[in-house]
Amino acid sequence: MKVDAIYVHFGELSTKGNNQKQFINCLARNIRHALKDYPTLKIDERRDFILVNLHDEDPESVMNRLLLVAGIQRLSLVYILEKDYQKIASAVVEIMEKEEGHTFKIKAHRVDKTFPISSMDLSAKLGGEVLRNVKRFKVDVHNPDVLMRVDIKSSGAYLYCHERIGLGGYPLGMNGKVTTLLSGGIDSPVAAYSLIRRGIKVECLHFASPPYTSEAVLDKLVDLLEVLSAYQEDIRLEVIPFTKLQEAIYRYVAEPYCITIMRRMMLRIAARCKEKNHALGIATGESIGQVASQTLESLGVINEVTNVPILRPLATSDKIAIINEAKRLGTYEISIRPYEDCCTIFKPKNPKTKPSLEEARFYESKFDYETLIDEAVANSYSIYIRNGAIIKDERNQDE
Ligand code: ATP
Ligand code: MG
Repeated sequence: MKVDAIYVHFGELSTKGNNQKQFINCLARNIRHALKDYPTLKIDERRDFILVNLHDEDPESVMNRLLLVAGIQRLSLVYILEKDYQKIASAVVEIMEKEEGHTFKIKAHRVDKTFPISSMDLSAKLGGEVLRNVKRFKVDVHNPDVLMRVDIKSSGAYLYCHERIGLGGYPLGMNGKVTTLLSGGIDSPVAAYSLIRRGIKVECLHFASPPYTSEAVLDKLVDLLEVLSAYQEDIRLEVIPFTKLQEAIYRYVAEPYCITIMRRMMLRIAARCKEKNHALGIATGESIGQVASQTLESLGVINEVTNVPILRPLATSDKIAIINEAKRLGTYEISIRPYEDCCTIFKPKNPKTKPSLEEARFYESKFDYETLIDEAVANSYSIYIRNGAIIKDERNQDE
């Protein structure tokens, strides 16, 4: 018997009310896009599931692709049959003959009430067929080695076992786009991934301070985004030349306030880029309490420069959990490569953990940062990544 299709179960649909249709359309569109290299596949959008008809494609390879698509809760290989008891029964026996293990359970679910056998009776009858025909199996209703599901729907009988867990979350693009601050550390790529998983597209922004920071940082960021492009096919990295602002800050601002002012400048620029790129918010990899600039008092003073929504997906995550997630994603090894970022180079000895807004404003009044911000934004350049490779690189281009 050959597997007919991959059965795609959605996540969290019950919580979405009127957004259901939008969710399904968006997910189906993303699935079609993710599977565009398999021309013979046919994708059927139903009210409560999506079916990827396999034809001659390799189920495992299609499955692996779908495991990276946000918005999918569970996936299973499915056999689709006519709603005929005898046919269903012999298929169940044939599938079970190939299964490993000693215990099983059949869970039938009759959605189509025109089918003459109730869910409970169908489970019991099919269970009896297995016991009679595949002698090594016993029933275990609590913790079976094989849980075989039989869904009777108007379009046919769907038989499947061994569900795989998908990414969950929302279909990408359903929840808009944000400008994400990417530093090259461990946290921000994990933050970017968690936004993508929740259906939010990311565009990344990096503040570079050459010659204080090395050009190699950009290679590192590209490597990180190549990993993340498995989840969001196209990602743009916008690089902001930050050196002049950085130098001005260290000239005019007292050392304990340098980080606070630097963050305020970053946020002002991010807000400008967010507007320019029609994004709906800004995101960072900040985590409460991690460092001096990430106390709630600091965040308050930093946030004051804009009223754009700021997402901090890792706000309450433990560092160890962030590291584990980075390892799972494959960003950790890239993130820990040694590099100098603009924060470590100018790191003050005793940064303010509870800065005051008045003092921050006082230091900012000492120099014309608006002009420096205009200049930085005007001189930004981008690197475009698609599917694990650079497709356009504005680095080192003549101005
Ligand atoms: P990461 O948070 O990525 O591990 P980190 O902990 O060294 O790096 P912090 O200095 O704590 O980063 O900065 C907190 C957040 O600020 C980062 O997660 C990132 O979103 C943003 N950020 C810091 N430096 C930069 C930079 N040079 N360019 C862009 N964003 C930055
Ligand atoms: Mg951090």
